[in-house]
Amino acid sequence: MSLKKILLIEDEKNMSRYLELELQHASFSVTAAYDGETGLQMALADHWDIILLDLMLPKLDGLDLCRRLRSCKQTPVIMLTAKGSVPDRVKGLDCGADDYLPKPFAFEELLARIRVILRRQEEQQSRNENQVFFLQDLCIDMDARLVLKNNKPIGLTKREFDLLAALVKNANRVMDRETLLDLVWGFEAAVDTNVVDVYVRYIRNKIDHSKETSLIQTVRGIGYVVRA
Ligand code: CA
Repeated sequence: MSLKKILLIEDEKNMSRYLELELQHASFSVTAAYDGETGLQMALADHWDIILLDLMLPKLDGLDLCRRLRSCKQTPVIMLTAKGSVPDRVKGLDCGADDYLPKPFAFEELLARIRVILRRQEEQQSRNENQVFFLQDLCIDMDARLVLKNNKPIGLTKREFDLLAALVKNANRVMDRETLLDLVWGFEAAVDTNVVDVYVRYIRNKIDHSKETSLIQTVRGIGYVVRA
């Protein structure tokens, strides 16, 4: 397993050095930044599993940094700060921090909170692997083989679901009729490619508002595409 990467943004050198050594000892890869601007640049430029963020920082404070980070990235953030009052805590969480740890804290507590976040992330990732897609007003759950339109289930037959799933999993890719036939009916299927058109019509009748806004678009002479 590769080391989890932590970005530590903390201007107090002693504190930073202490946390760096302890985290390395706990088998994390740690990179330190000592001011808010540099921290934000590093946060945006690379992948991090967790960011430990001090609140009071030179150049750009922790709250602003977190807000700016959140406008483009969802990297988990734990705020570390001497300001432990309730309003500050709320502010920290409001700007998108995942957790908040008032100084002074025991290193073990920080470690425990890091583990909670990493575990949550892993759960999230395994949920994503279940593949739930949201397109227009549809929610398509591949594992449950369920299609919801405005939160109401749509009854699709097995073939209809498989065809829709093949298009959704390959969203933005134009799928020709032969490929769809292979994916849904199997290579040996002795059916005509027209069957794809027929089933696309069935699905459209069940999921679309109108022809103009059809989720499944026809690419003339080739096949179909779902645009995400
Ligand atoms: Ca500070």
